[in-house]
Order: sequence, then structure tokens, then C-alpha cells
Amino acid sequence: MMMEGDLVDLDVENLCEENNKDKREISSTRKVYSRSRRRIFAEFVASKKLPGSMLNSSECIWLCCGHRFTDPTSIHTHTSSQHSREIHTMTNESLKNHQTDSKELHQKNTDSLKLYSLDAYSPNLQEALSDSVNDSMTESESLGVNSWIPDLSGISELELVGGASEVLLFYCYQEIREPHIICMWQQKLCFLLRLRGKVRVASEGINGTVGGSKRATEIYIKAMMEHPSFRTMSTQDFKRSTGSAECFPDLRVGVFNEIVPMGINPEIISYTAAGQHLEPEEFHREVQTMIEEQNGDTVLLDCRNFYESKIGQFQQCLAPDIRKFSYFPEFVDQNLHLFRDKKVLMYCTGGIRCERGSAYLKSTSVCREVLQLKGGIHKYLEQFPDGFYRGKLFVFDQRYSLAFNQDVISVCVYCGRPWDQYQLCSSSLCSQLVLSCSPCRERGLTACCLICQQKNGLVHQPSQPQSDEEGRKMKREQCQCTNNRDRIPQHTSQSG
Ligand SMILES: [Zn+2]
Ligand SMILES: [Zn+2]
Ligand SMILES: [Zn+2]
Ligand SMILES: [Zn+2]
Repeated sequence: MMMEGDLVDLDVENLCEENNKDKREISSTRKVYSRSRRRIFAEFVASKKLPGSMLNSSECIWLCCGHRFTDPTSIHTHTSSQHSREIHTMTNESLKNHQTDSKELHQKNTDSLKLYSLDAYSPNLQEALSDSVNDSMTESESLGVNSWIPDLSGISELELVGGASEVLLFYCYQEIREPHIICMWQQKLCFLLRLRGKVRVASEGINGTVGGSKRATEIYIKAMMEHPSFRTMSTQDFKRSTGSAECFPDLRVGVFNEIVPMGINPEIISYTAAGQHLEPEEFHREVQTMIEEQNGDTVLLDCRNFYESKIGQFQQCLAPDIRKFSYFPEFVDQNLHLFRDKKVLMYCTGGIRCERGSAYLKSTSVCREVLQLKGGIHKYLEQFPDGFYRGKLFVFDQRYSLAFNQDVISVCVYCGRPWDQYQLCSSSLCSQLVLSCSPCRERGLTACCLICQQKNGLVHQPSQPQSDEEGRKMKREQCQCTNNRDRIPQHTSQSG
């Protein structure tokens, strides 16, 4: 079963691909929240413990929801899977009530308005934050934010959260002079529209994925296109897929150096130097020619991470075995021979990684030509669901993947039968994705590797928050599948 805590970890540690600089910019709002949450969680678990005097032996027993738990791991697992909403509510109550915490929260917001992580389950906390945001705004900030908030007075809460829903994926490379104002505006806009997801703002543009009702996403798109910074955007720039606000644990809006973390200063490798864009039909023709001619003149380059291309990719593509996009430049540097004098056709999920990825490839001056798929696989599959892209499209939210055709191109790691449904490793301290089929899961094979599988059976001793962090790091490093993976694998082969 997926646990909320795991998803938060997965999101922050693996999927956000934030570089260290970006990580440092994460506001302490979330730290305050998660510190309180840890305390509330521990108190909740403790409240379920039977007093020692009632037991004959020295063992501990917890009672919750009519079940008996005899080890800390099982009561922790139960609490995080069955009581996370209560924990959320209690944490927010406690944040409101504890003056010192609130002061700290407010103080930190005033100090650096960098990243908001708002729990959409808790309107109280959101309103509290919104107020503190408004209080600390300068006049020009307030103008920059409020001038571009649409009038929602005629729209009821029910209209905003009810009815059909969807998930939007979008980006826009565009010089932004005051990213922090755009950040505040996005935070307020998404909050008012009850959208959840992730939005990255930088001087080089904006990148986001948000989910909510179709009524809300329509208003959001309109507000985006009316904003002076994003007037170049069209409705076509918003890729839509089936989903909702529930695909995301919360709303995170932040200011970063790069809107997609390649780890290179945007002033050195700029989106303005990107490769030529091809419409899906043009890209389709290019791939067709490449497959028909087989003359080795063209390289079809997937610039996503290995776990994304594993479950879906273009036929005859080159799929680097990289864990993060920030390893892409190094991959290129170490494999220049693959691109020498070639025409390179690049693609990624929605097109954003190809923008500066292609600029980087071009900067090496080895390719004959660098072309990129406009709108990414997302737009391609809308037009060619049965084209040259086979398998699923990986997405960075709780859906994990989108299906446009019925092909399954990956296999269960345990038995080898076709399987492409990712789940989180069952070891509570691991956040790797694992492909384990239903029959194998029924046999208990639910971890990403043997070490994690063995950890499942071990009793996890509760410890202090600080040593928890250390324990987490220590156990992460023990994970075979991470350790055995080179940053940039030396052996790269053309996959079929
Ligand atoms: Zn319970
Ligand atoms: Zn299996
Ligand atoms: Zn694992
Ligand atoms: Zn592992």
C-alpha cells in the first residue's frame, strides 16, 4: 500500500530532481510543519500504547482501530496509512495554537518567500499563510500579485472542487524580472482555485503541473495567458490528462535557479540556444525515415531518466541510464562519439527538458543538427497513440504513468513477465520505484532489492527525529539498486 510519507519522500528526494542550491531555498515553512507533524505522529502512536502494567511480559502492545500491533513498525505503518488525515488536522491545529510556532512560521515567511508547501486538506493553515503573505507584501508586490488574480466572486467552492477534473502540464521559457512576485501570484492563484501540484518559477520562466476541477483549470489557463509575462502561451501549451488535485499530496510553488534542474547556469546554457522544434507530425516523419533507412545517420535521443524510458519509449531510441536530468550534460560529455556528425532527434515528456538539453548538446558542436519534439511525448501521443512511441508515459505524480496504447514494454524484476505498473518499494525507508507484478507481490516480493526485502522483516526501533534522519540516510546508502548504479554508466547501448 502506498503511504503518504513515502510519497512525500519520493517526491522530495527523487522526483523533484532539485539540485543542492535549490534544496537550500526550500522555505522553513515546511520544516516547521514537518517537525510538528513528527511530534503529533509520535504522540498519536504513544496514545495507542497499552500501559506496561497491563502486560505480563516486557513486550509492547498498541491497540488501534480494533487491531493489535506488537511491533513499532506495524503501528507506524498503520498510523500513516489509516490516520494521515487526522494527523494532518491535528498538526494544523497545533500550528495554529502554538504561538511560538506561528510566530516562527510568520517570521520565516517574511524573511524569505521562497517555497510554499500547503496542505490542501487544511484550509485553516492555507488561510493563515495567505494572510501572512499578504501582510508581508510590499505595495508593488501586492499590485503584481493581485492585479492578475481573476474575479472569482460569482463562483462557489462547490463549482471549484466538484465536477470533472484534470491535470495540466505546462512550461514557458520567458525572461522573468521578478520571479518571487510570480511565485506569490501562483501561490495565491492556485490556492484560490483549489489546485494542487508543483510550480517552479525562475528568471528563465515557469514550469508546472497542477490538478483540479476543469472549471478551476480553465480559469487558471485563462489567468496565465492574460498575465503579461506569459502572453506568448497558448492553450496548446497546456497538456491535459485525466487526473485531479488528488494526484498531488499538496501545493508547492517555489523560486529556483532553473525551471528544470539541469545543474547548469541558465546564463551559460540558455533556452534561447535550443534546437529546432518539430511538430509531432514532422517528428513522426523523421522517425519513420530513420527506421526505414537504417543508415545510422540519425540518433533518436530520449533525454528522460532511466525509470521513465524503461516503461515507454520511441522505437530504436537511445535511452541514457541516468537517474536525474542533472546527469544529462555529463552523459553527453562522456558519449560525444555517439553524436558526432549525426542528426539528433530529441524528446522528453512535455518538451521542457529538451529545450536546454538540446542547447547543451548543440554547445558541444559535434552534431550535424539537433531537433526537438515540440510538446514532447504528451503531444505526440495525442496525435499518434499508435505511432512509434510504445508503452506508458511516466508522470511525476501519484499516477506514475499515463496509457495511450496497450503495449507493455517492461517486465517484473522478480519473474520477468510483462509488467509496467510502478509501486514504491515496501521498505519504509526506501523511495525507489519497483516493478513487481501482482503474483510476485502476493508472494511478498514487494521491495526494490534484496536488502530492502530483508529490511521489511526487521523491527524498526523508534528513535529521536535527528537520529531518524541519520538512520534514513544510512539505510538509503545500503540500498543495492542505488549503489550499483553508476552516476553515468560507462556502457551505453542502442536499445531496440
Ligand atoms: Zn488505527
Ligand atoms: Zn513477477
Ligand atoms: Zn527499496
Ligand atoms: Zn533497493
